[in-house]
Amino acid sequence: MLENKVALVTGAGRGIGREIALTLAEYGADVIVNYNGSEERAKAVAAEIGEKGRKAVVMKANVSDADEVAALFEQSLKEFGRVDILVNNAGITKDNLILKMSEQEYDAVVDTNMKGAFLCMKQAAKLMLKQRSGRIINIASISGIIGNAGQVNYCAAKAGMIGMTKALARELGSRSVTVNAVAPGFIETEMTDVLPQQVKDGMLAQIPLKRAGQAKDVAEAVAFLASEGAAYITGQTLQVNGGMDM
Ligand code: NAP
Repeated sequence: MLENKVALVTGAGRGIGREIALTLAEYGADVIVNYNGSEERAKAVAAEIGEKGRKAVVMKANVSDADEVAALFEQSLKEFGRVDILVNNAGITKDNLILKMSEQEYDAVVDTNMKGAFLCMKQAAKLMLKQRSGRIINIASISGIIGNAGQVNYCAAKAGMIGMTKALARELGSRSVTVNAVAPGFIETEMTDVLPQQVKDGMLAQIPLKRAGQAKDVAEAVAFLASEGAAYITGQTLQVNGGMDM
């Protein structure tokens, strides 16, 4: 399905990003495994992709740093000559009620999630406009759609990513580049492991499918949006949340 495609997945050393990288490789793509702090885990993901018979390289870059993102794309081009699929998955949370939320907590979350996606999309747009094809998939969140107490920063960033998705879909559509978002609900990763059991139980109670999501659930949605079959879908947000929001 994705043979001869090159995918760049940000934050692919662990969690949802790791599963996206592995799944795109299973469907035939070669993968640039971006990481920021998790070097060893990123190398393990690349090794696993190699075992599947696909090419993978690890590249370190902090997505919120414009110079590092420019270098990431430069290196990707050197290595593969093109980037067909960009998945903006890198993200962090720094939850707090607004009266306690520091400016630093706000900035860090917006910089990593939203500005990081902006910087990567800017680089990808340049390439994909020339290629006259491409797929950009932004990992947003249910929090950016319905809101979540304690996450003013994260909700702003994720809602912002959905807005940017629509704007860029309009900018790049005439060159057959699609831009979509995937908005996961409650997915079991290190990001949600830290939540108190009471909060987890509260979320589970709101999920019609009666289970937490797995990274693989998100990865399969991303693979679909990256595929030829999704060529006429752009500017959309696909919710992967077990029915938590409809
Ligand atoms: P996670 O397990 O905490 O992993 C976060 C990933 O983001 C790591 O690979 C990390 O890389 C990377 N990252 C963080 N800051 C980065 C930076 N400045 N530059 C490059 N990479 C960076 O979280 P997850 O649950 O897999 O989340 C992945 C995405 O899904 C995030 O955008 C998150 O907001 C979104 N999401 C998650 C859920 C959920 O329930 N888990 C729900 C909705 C949306 P390093 O370790 O290498 O630093």
